[in-house]
Amino acid sequence: MDLIKAVLESEYASKLNLKPLGAELDVEQADFDGYGYCYVAEACGCLLMFFPYVPHCVPETGTAYVDRYYYASQSVYRAKSELLRFARGFFPEADTYMGSYKALVRSTGIGASLYNSLIYIKPFGTFFCMEVIDLKNREAAGYPEALPEEPRDTDECLICGRCSKSCPAGALLPGTPPSERLVREKCIRQKQFEDASPRDPSNVIRGNRLLGCTECQLVCPLNAGVAAKMTRPPAEYYEMFDLDTLAKACVTPGFKKSRYAEVFGYNYMKPRRILGHVLAAMVNDGFEKHRAVVEECLEKGNPAFRDVIEGFLEIYQ
Ligand code: SF4
Ligand code: SF4
Repeated sequence: MDLIKAVLESEYASKLNLKPLGAELDVEQADFDGYGYCYVAEACGCLLMFFPYVPHCVPETGTAYVDRYYYASQSVYRAKSELLRFARGFFPEADTYMGSYKALVRSTGIGASLYNSLIYIKPFGTFFCMEVIDLKNREAAGYPEALPEEPRDTDECLICGRCSKSCPAGALLPGTPPSERLVREKCIRQKQFEDASPRDPSNVIRGNRLLGCTECQLVCPLNAGVAAKMTRPPAEYYEMFDLDTLAKACVTPGFKKSRYAEVFGYNYMKPRRILGHVLAAMVNDGFEKHRAVVEECLEKGNPAFRDVIEGFLEIYQ
């Protein structure tokens, strides 16, 4: 059956702003204006969903940086959950695809993998979120043989090395095979999902980045058309991610169900961890400016956060 046709004729097409991915693949980045849509394609027995976005520029000090990727990923995750219910009407076994997205995209010819370890699709560059529904819920061993385990460098990647040179954490090793190129433990995006420590020397590299790091994408010539569209976040963002406002929100009961959940997603709503990263960003911003708020958080906040706050106060007293 033509699942894409069925999806596009269903109530979900307008509800989730769905479009088929086809003609767009030939559009130049500078001309691409299909933001806000969720593009769907069917390949290798899977329903692929792509949600392109324009990255946020890094806001001024005093505000935590949260890349637009995280807003987009929540949208595409919710869309996937709805489409999964729809797809099960035709494919009762349908479930979330558990294989390699890179291998899938590469083998379908929709896009390529790049030196910076990200997936590239011409009109979106590397700035898109992706979800995949495996229509037959195969185990990993049952994925089509055409899917290579480890995609090689592609013709699209210019192997110019700008991404590795730009990485503030030295996490992209030049000249190494793809599987060893990204040193995850060093990557800022990885660090953001671990507990912050006031004594971690890499805190200073992270600046005010709370969620996301786009350095290796913004310098990539293959992303030039998207990078040129980069915008300041809206005014509400500055209020919401003001470091003092966010620190107070973290220690306030009900944080997990607050407006921040729409950005972090339920799985990442860990107030203790987020607070640690906010405190690290405050250090980079000048801890003195935030000391009164940090002390207020200590006084009024959940005692479970005491050690995190005291750890930073002890060093920066
Ligand atoms: S910056 Fe150069 S080497 Fe890195 S992904 Fe882009 S084209 Fe490839
Ligand atoms: S996301 Fe940031 S830290 Fe990670 S590899 Fe890219 S530039 Fe380096």
